[in-house]
Amino acid sequence: MRIQSGRLHLGMAWKESISLKSYNTFGIDVSAAHLGEAQDMDQLAALIAEVPDRKQLLVLGGGSNVLLTQDVDRWVLLNRLGGIEQVREDKEHVWIKAGAGIVWHDLVLYAIEKGYGGIENLSLIPGNVGAAPMQNIGAYGVELKDVFEELEAWHIFDQELHTFGGADCKFGYRESVFKRNLKNQYIITSITLKLTKKPVFNVSYGAIESELKAQKVTETTLQDVSKAVIAIRQSKLPDPAQIGNSGSFFKNPVIPQKQFNRLKEQYSSMPGYVLSEGLVKIAAGWLIEQAGWKGYRSGDFGVHDRQALVLVNHGGAKGSDILDLSTKIMIDILEKFDIQLEREVNIY
Ligand code: FAD
Ligand code: NAP
Repeated sequence: MRIQSGRLHLGMAWKESISLKSYNTFGIDVSAAHLGEAQDMDQLAALIAEVPDRKQLLVLGGGSNVLLTQDVDRWVLLNRLGGIEQVREDKEHVWIKAGAGIVWHDLVLYAIEKGYGGIENLSLIPGNVGAAPMQNIGAYGVELKDVFEELEAWHIFDQELHTFGGADCKFGYRESVFKRNLKNQYIITSITLKLTKKPVFNVSYGAIESELKAQKVTETTLQDVSKAVIAIRQSKLPDPAQIGNSGSFFKNPVIPQKQFNRLKEQYSSMPGYVLSEGLVKIAAGWLIEQAGWKGYRSGDFGVHDRQALVLVNHGGAKGSDILDLSTKIMIDILEKFDIQLEREVNIY
């Protein structure tokens, strides 16, 4: 606890040797050498100022896209910066700025409640707003980049706030500059999204359309789409509160059309989605299921029995067990299909 600018900051000191079990959705029980929580920018700057080597900082939001394979001998900073505000509007759009510590789904609910379209397909993605640009979160044919205006990020070495537009973020499929060239250099503190006052619904992806039919929806609303996405997700994906997981463990691989055609001759049911320039996206979950891994279990770790793309912790798994399992799966898929899988989850 320390006093800055006449204000009393509660709970902003670094704590030592804290279990991270409740701070990662895999539920891996490792400890952090130091753990701090920032509710506002003053606290963030003050906490960082105390870190002797800033390369040792590790920011966490909801911990829903990390696999912790050992005790974290670092300064783990929980980003809890709040606030949602409308910063601009014109006839057709509104610009909404949200603090990095806001729960992503709360921002989705806020937009739906106000009648603003653009992120309803991204309903129920776990985690916080600040991590959304990290891998350009996406689901059901929508990605963050589709509605992204800008973000603010704190440079941990210069201790300055920088603004990044869409092009600066170099968004790709589950990718951004913050996962690559600028890794470990910035803490994202807020994002601003450009949402539409006249929603255009995107329901052709996956099972949304059939779910809307099942719900007997005739005139689609933002709420309907969100509800449909939530229903599909709940029926297919394991709830981290029940079984530890970090969602899709691997990215969907993209392969040349020629290779896809060859594989298709052998595996006629293999799904493929044509992207530009003769490239085809393959469902990694299908490959893993075909290779016989779906429902695999060894002790407390394994592959989910309804969604083969999700690796799970049934209770007392170690992060290193799950990492080893992911390596075995990658080797197997390479041998069987000549396709190199890439992990989506961030490994520490
Ligand atoms: P964390 O796990 O806390 O962090 C992820 C990475 O970002 C870490 O490297 C961390 O250091 C870094 N980071 C976090 N916050 C910041 C910050 N403020 N500044 C700088 N770096 C930061 N993802 C999708 O894209 N689509 C989905 O449909 C989807 N579904 C999921 C379903 C389930 C059941 C689960 C468990 C996960 C799913 N995910 C999905 C993955 C995950 O929810 C998202 O990637 C989410 O954005 C991670 O947010 P988080 O706050 O939990 O990030
Ligand atoms: P699904 O509908 O069973 O489809 C399997 C895969 O095929 C998906 O991964 C998706 O790729 C792709 N796909 C389906 N329809 C497509 C289309 N019309 N055009 C192009 N690609 C298509 O997938 P699911 O497992 O239930 O997941 C549904 C959505 O939620 C997907 O978008 C998925 O990415 C997202 N999700 C992500 C995570 C995560 O942790 N990253 C976890 C759960 C769900 P894409 O993944 O490229 O969309």
